[in-house]
Amino acid sequence: MVEIKTPEQIAKMREAGLVVAAMHKACAEAAVPGASTKDLDEIAAKVLAEHNAKPNFLGYGGFPGNICTSVNDVVVHGIPDRETVLKSGDIISIDAGAIVDGWHGDAALTVFVGTGHAPELIELSRVTEESMWAGLAAVRKGARLVDVSKAIEGYIRRQPRPASGKYGIIEDYGGHGIGSQMHMEPHLLNYVERRRGKGPKLVPGFCLAIEPMVSLGTPKTHVLEDEWTVKTDDGTWSSHWEHSVALTEQGPLVLTAPDGGKAKLAELGITAAPDPLA
Ligand code: MG
Repeated sequence: MVEIKTPEQIAKMREAGLVVAAMHKACAEAAVPGASTKDLDEIAAKVLAEHNAKPNFLGYGGFPGNICTSVNDVVVHGIPDRETVLKSGDIISIDAGAIVDGWHGDAALTVFVGTGHAPELIELSRVTEESMWAGLAAVRKGARLVDVSKAIEGYIRRQPRPASGKYGIIEDYGGHGIGSQMHMEPHLLNYVERRRGKGPKLVPGFCLAIEPMVSLGTPKTHVLEDEWTVKTDDGTWSSHWEHSVALTEQGPLVLTAPDGGKAKLAELGITAAPDPLA
């Protein structure tokens, strides 16, 4: 069921991951007041072309963009368009993917547009990003999939609650296996659900996209009439962070982080695997 990759295949996924990192850098820099989400999509397309990489989002189930641009109360799968113009104080999740020689990369980040963000929003993004890193640090030989879910949820629940009450860990979406396709087995919940069991054992060659989505209120979402845009049911804003990671014999390699996750994992007491492209 789970696709196990060879070191050579992981090196290809690292190539795709670095294209995704380049897309993020360019899009994040362009996410300024006055830019439309379509502008960001065009920048992402340009980066893909420059690297001879293919988009994996475009055409996926009919999705019309190269990236997903999810603003404020949009959790995920926002469609880039000319009408959505960013303004100071917005937050946007930019979810990007790339294919190199048939191997996929997938990652997302939350960007603050302009200035004037409430401390609660800054904290929301920090908690979401750190929970992703807690999940990445749990990717180790002999662990089970549920240990990753537990690490993500545990991190979020250990944080001081927001003034709005409680963080909502989005229930309808989660992480996933990745490799020769973008979405593969297993599905990764961002919280522990006991009836799901412990999930597969993590072994070298196992690759996952880890992507917590957290709101300032409800864990519940709905899809708009465009059949893509996912919003929180209570209209609270949400953050989304994602990296793709490969477990290797030498430990985890964060495929979509420019440094392979080295610096951040070191803070968490984990040695990242050496970069196969370095
Ligand atoms: Mg993903």
